[in-house]
Amino acid sequence: MISSSVPLLGFAAYSGTGKTTLLEALLPKLTQAGLRIGVLKHAHHDFDIDKPGKDSYRLRHAGASQMLIASRLRFAKITETPESEPAFEQLIKQFNQDELDLILVEGCKNIAFPKIELHRQPTGKPWLYPNDAEIIAIASDTHCDAELPQLNINDIDSIALFVIDYVQSMSKRVSKIKVEGASCDSFAHPNTLSVEEARQRIVSAVRAVADSETVDLKDAGQRILSDNVTSTIDVPAFRNSAMDGYAIAYNDLCAGRWQIVGQVLAGHGFEGNIAAGQAVKIMTGAPIPAELDTVIMREEAVEQDGYVSFPNAHISAGQNVRHPGEDLKMGQPVFAKGQLIQSPEQGMLAALGLKRISVLRPLKVAIFSTGDEVFEPGSKISTSGLYDANRYSLRGLLQQQRCELLDMGILPDDPEKIRQALEEMSGHADLILTSGGVSVGDADYVKQVMQSLGHIELWKINMRPGRPLAFGSIHQTPIFGLPGNPVAAMVSFIQFVQPAIAKMQGQTHWQPMSAVAVAEVELRSKQGRTEFTRGIYQVNDHGQFTVKSTGHQGSALLHSMSQANCLIEIGPHIDTIKAGESVTIIPLQGRI
Ligand code: AMP
Ligand code: MG
Repeated sequence: MISSSVPLLGFAAYSGTGKTTLLEALLPKLTQAGLRIGVLKHAHHDFDIDKPGKDSYRLRHAGASQMLIASRLRFAKITETPESEPAFEQLIKQFNQDELDLILVEGCKNIAFPKIELHRQPTGKPWLYPNDAEIIAIASDTHCDAELPQLNINDIDSIALFVIDYVQSMSKRVSKIKVEGASCDSFAHPNTLSVEEARQRIVSAVRAVADSETVDLKDAGQRILSDNVTSTIDVPAFRNSAMDGYAIAYNDLCAGRWQIVGQVLAGHGFEGNIAAGQAVKIMTGAPIPAELDTVIMREEAVEQDGYVSFPNAHISAGQNVRHPGEDLKMGQPVFAKGQLIQSPEQGMLAALGLKRISVLRPLKVAIFSTGDEVFEPGSKISTSGLYDANRYSLRGLLQQQRCELLDMGILPDDPEKIRQALEEMSGHADLILTSGGVSVGDADYVKQVMQSLGHIELWKINMRPGRPLAFGSIHQTPIFGLPGNPVAAMVSFIQFVQPAIAKMQGQTHWQPMSAVAVAEVELRSKQGRTEFTRGIYQVNDHGQFTVKSTGHQGSALLHSMSQANCLIEIGPHIDTIKAGESVTIIPLQGRI
């Protein structure tokens, strides 16, 4: 559902139906009725309202990415969006909604918000209804077989009355909702959640481990700091040269040529005094003698007969000098508790001279597969069996997050065996993951066992793949019942288990990376749910991401997860992304 405090109403039609002409006739009738109207028009082409030669045009082309041009009567803001097409919601936010009663939208027919379908028989175009569930009325020159209000497309007065009625009914609903403090989501089924809601509930239900241990710096990569780190030294510790070159005193610049009285190598000092008209040859990282303050790079120097000069160099005072504490000062905070130690952090800890690092202990995660049909790879399999893919995908995913694995094998579809195994594991593991048996099949016992042993919330999440997800706890140990289909299990893991693990490990940042890409082909979804399509993205000649689907999207087609390098996320209010439109992608590198 698009959020807007002003009612939105679209006019959806194929081109050639006369949308603009109709709106042009309709607007005076609506404004006469006292409505203050905003219009959003979606233009498919590279439109420009500016004219070559105008000041605004020239300034935009000189580099203004936002150009506001104003006069006493009107103003216009032209915003350049070369990277990606702005999202519909972003466009709606551009209106000053306090000063409007209705926003009419022309175009954007693949976005979910209420619309009147316009249809003219002679155009020969198909109906949009019932493929768009947001169509609330039809205006046509012929009858449509729909249980919706039908208007005559040529009777502008009736269409105006319908719109005025719509605005009045929406305003009542909006004020009623505001009074009751409800949100649109409160009308949804309590066990049906959006991806975002489910993730928030999960993340807020799990706690970070508290125990820490000390490890050698060499083994600290991918671990999480259990304490804040403060610098105990200045980095760098002393004034040194940033270049291989010659050090001089800047106030001695008039000398023009300097006698070279020594050479300072990195790791060594200079013994002796330096007088006016003298310089030292110096290497990167070597301490600069106290009398000197400026370094000229070797490439700009001419050395002859024990003297150096810099004929073409432009020299500024103090150049090429690194000062003590320039990177970090003694006593300065460096990292906060909860910091994941990746290569820069590992290097920085080393630069501080730290050898033993206090980190949070690794998370112990137990994994089970379930199903009478599931067999261990390498074992003899029955004619109705399949090999266990999920435990092996999960192993990889958990290793990626540096968890300690408790691989508990395969459980049969036997409630008693499942009960015993989960109960026992809840005493050993920090987190339990199962796959299979959480759907509505006759042998789906996992959720029933979770329910009997502890607390369970079984959710239908508005997403595909991965609609059923059981999440709960057994004796305070969180447990996820992931779906059995291998792709659904992986996508659910990426969306829900990865952030939960990050929080349990003590990490403070776990927002997954997403980016915007241009669809190379049309992508379809179903309104009302988030679709995670396996996708392949690449960078085009303009440096933009472009993306296409891997093809057929069955949730048992694990091979497609290898072909994919991203998930394409199509939000619940969109049913079609046309070729050339923008879409969100979640790159999978480093995550799976
Ligand atoms: P379930 O939710 O248990 O009905 O499982 C849904 C589908 O996923 C069924 O076709 C199962 O055979 C399949 N499945 C369940 N567990 C696994 C597994 N560990 N590896 C591969 N496929 C599985
Ligand atoms: Mg099963």
